[in-house]
Amino acid sequence: MATEAPPTLDQRIRLFIFEHFAEHASPPVVEQLMTWFDLDRSEASDVLRRLVDARHIALVKGTSRILMAFPFSAIATPFRVLANGRTYFANCAWDAIAFHSMLGAEIAIDSFCHHCAAPIRIEMREGRAVSVEPPEAIVYLALRPTHWWEDIIATCSNTMVFFASPEHREASDLSAPPEEAASLTPDQVYALGVPLYADKLSMNYRRLGIDELRAHFASLGLTGPYWQI
Ligand SMILES: [Zn+2]
Repeated sequence: MATEAPPTLDQRIRLFIFEHFAEHASPPVVEQLMTWFDLDRSEASDVLRRLVDARHIALVKGTSRILMAFPFSAIATPFRVLANGRTYFANCAWDAIAFHSMLGAEIAIDSFCHHCAAPIRIEMREGRAVSVEPPEAIVYLALRPTHWWEDIIATCSNTMVFFASPEHREASDLSAPPEEAASLTPDQVYALGVPLYADKLSMNYRRLGIDELRAHFASLGLTGPYWQI
C-alpha cells in the first residue's frame, strides 16, 4: 500500500492561504507566513512566487501581497458571495459560482449585469442554482481558455461576467464572435468548476492536467471551437 509523502512547504502554505481566506474573507500577509512557517522574508516570498507559477494565486504586481487565491479576491469586486454567515468577494462570475463546490455549502451571489448594472442574484444549493434573478441571467466568458493565463488578473477582472439577458450581452462592448466566447447557465458553470475547485481546501489539491481538462469539457458536451485547448 502506497504511503502518502508528507506535504511540501508549498502545499502547506497554499492550504494556509485558502483556509485563511475561508475563515477571514481576506488573505494572510507575508509576515504571518514568516511567523507561522518560521521563514525569512525572501523564503516566504519565494513560496508565493512558486504558487503564482503553479497558478494557485495571483499577487499584486511588483509585490508579495496576495490579490487572488482562486476563487477568493482580496479586494472588493462586483461578485459578492454570501456563505456560512460570511461575505466573500470572488474574482469573476465563474469564481463566484465555484464557491459552491469549494465550500460544499449553500451560497448566495450578489452581482450585477456587466452591461446595465442591474442586480443579479443567484442562490446555489445541493449542486444546482435554485434561484436565478433575473431568470435569463447568463455567465459570459469573453476570452478563449487558451488566452486566460496570459494575464490572469485582467482575464478574471474584465472578461468573466454576468449579463442580465442575452440581449444585454449583445448590447455590451464585451460581446465577442461566438467561437471566441461562451455563454453559459449557472448550472453549466457549476458543473465546469467541480473538479477544479471542490478540493481547494484539501492539502492534496492539484490542478487538472490539460488532458484531464479536455476530457472534462467533453464530458459536459463542451466541444465547440471555444473549448479546444
Ligand atoms: Zn443589463
